[in-house]
Amino acid sequence: MVSETKQKLTIGVLALQGAFLEHIHMLNNLDLVEEAIPVRTLEQLNAVDALIIPGGESTAMALIAERCQLLEPLREFVRRKPTWGTCAGMILLADEATSTKKGGQQLLGGLEIAVNRNQFGTQKDSFDTLLHMPELVGDDPFRAVFIRAPVITAILSDSVKVVARLEQAVGQTEAETIVAVRQGHLFATAFHPELTHDDRLHKYFVNVALQHLS
Ligand code: GLN
Repeated sequence: MVSETKQKLTIGVLALQGAFLEHIHMLNNLDLVEEAIPVRTLEQLNAVDALIIPGGESTAMALIAERCQLLEPLREFVRRKPTWGTCAGMILLADEATSTKKGGQQLLGGLEIAVNRNQFGTQKDSFDTLLHMPELVGDDPFRAVFIRAPVITAILSDSVKVVARLEQAVGQTEAETIVAVRQGHLFATAFHPELTHDDRLHKYFVNVALQHLS
């Protein structure tokens, strides 16, 4: 349990698979972060104030979490505690997903959105694009890197706020498609902010977390 006056956070990055090191490096350079640690065990999960679920492969991450008996603890965690899902992490946080693996795949859920996996095609269809998110990062656009990325196809609750949309069509995907949302203590981006040198979204998440400590 953290005190209400806590000013610096311990942030975990789920480290079962995927791009977790880049998030840890970025977080460890922020003033409001006491420490960023990889999370692979229940003890580590219990020790953090907030969590990032990184990009990678959502099917693999869910399978490993299940084998490590972390699936239920993670579901509990995201119900109450500040969590940011990037790319595969966004898929795991979603209540519903399409284009899932044959036979289905486990989600954590909690974020009332529907997502479509691999919206833009395969690895070779990766791209980056500028997004304006003035409420999150100020007036300068953010260079968003999309790698086999999902998109948000439906908002399932009034408490979900859309915070970023594609500004141009990309292949078959229309302009205005939703690529980032916030719902209270939960935040999700379809892209990979940790793969740039721009830490503005990490700072934003730390502030979200500070406002939603439990
Ligand atoms: N396509 C991946 C998945 O379905 C996500 C890709 C990523 O995280 N860069 O999990």
